[in-house]
Amino acid sequence: MVEKLIIIGSGPAAWTAAIYGARAALKPLVFEGAISEANARNNTLPLGQLALTTEVENYPGFPKGDLSGYLASALPAEVVAGLPADGKHGVTGPILMELMRQQAKNFGTRVITEDIVAVDFSRHPFLLTASDGKTYEALAVIVATGARANYLGLPSEEKFRNRGVSACAVCDGALPRFRERPLAVVGGGDSAVEEATYLTRFASKVYMVHRRDKLRASRIMAERALNNPKIEILWNRVVEEILGTDEDGVTGVRLASTVGEAPLELAVSGVFLAIGHTPNTAFLKGQLELTEKGYIRLVKPFRTYTSVEGVFAAGDVADDYYRQAVTAAGSGCMAALDAERWLTEKGWH
Ligand code: NAP
Repeated sequence: MVEKLIIIGSGPAAWTAAIYGARAALKPLVFEGAISEANARNNTLPLGQLALTTEVENYPGFPKGDLSGYLASALPAEVVAGLPADGKHGVTGPILMELMRQQAKNFGTRVITEDIVAVDFSRHPFLLTASDGKTYEALAVIVATGARANYLGLPSEEKFRNRGVSACAVCDGALPRFRERPLAVVGGGDSAVEEATYLTRFASKVYMVHRRDKLRASRIMAERALNNPKIEILWNRVVEEILGTDEDGVTGVRLASTVGEAPLELAVSGVFLAIGHTPNTAFLKGQLELTEKGYIRLVKPFRTYTSVEGVFAAGDVADDYYRQAVTAAGSGCMAALDAERWLTEKGWH
């Protein structure tokens, strides 16, 4: 059977594309990603980056409030049971994603919990291979596989991953091991400031370790860090080694200087990486044009067209600039409309 539309991904872009695609009678098939150890390690589990966050205060339509009654009516009981309890104070990332997924399913979207590991866009119908080895054919494809947090690549970082090393303060910051302890955040962008500021809720002190003498973060965010008495910025420093023991996990960091000063050792219980993201495009190499940073190149302004006719891209996988849930959702809608119009033009819909 040849599918009309296959959507790869399970963040806001993918579910919005599925909602629009299903309502346009394209009967979309979504590959939401596999639940695997590799995906857990990579932060690429189903429902994407938002599933790794807590409160979402800037998604329009979800002001603060008690959502519990609504959630009980909108989602299956077993899904509600697995959600974080804080739905009483507004929407959270995991809840928002479950709501979007359910909305797509309500319109008949079919969902397969596997990764797409290979594609052949040189033939049509396009050929897609899933992580369980099965293959699928599609007339149109929307790629919405998002991006994931970067790590430094140190062996010590890998050793202490989830034992003091994290790339998501909002996922892990409230853990007991970080409470009332000094912590380090690596990076100088908006994410680093956001993570450092968030961690000041729990930590006794937060060091921001930045490799230059100027923050990359926007002015308003930079001022937030500079004015926070709990944040100390260590300029011109890079992490040389994460220190720790098998018993306690992370106990400190050794920092090298980028301007010739002596190394510095800090006692910290956690190291949070906020050094940017990598798009999830490895399975597309040689099939679609990518940018030098590895994001999918969109070939026409205000459209979701990629270098291959019939393949569309939406969300963070094609956007290293806005990277917001709402912009991803908007581009998912655009991709579904683009796919529908393209299929209609071709006489396939
Ligand atoms: P980013 O702007 O690319 O910043 C990454 C930071 O990590 C930079 O300071 C960079 O240093 C540093 N870095 C990169 N690789 C490193 C390495 N190997 N070792 C040490 N440091 C390294 O990424 P981001 O902060 O994730 O932000 C990405 C985008 O999302 C931006 O457009 C940002 O405005 C947006 N964003 C917005 C908000 C908000 O407004 N609330 C929150 C989060 C993100 P250099 O500065 O030296 O390059």
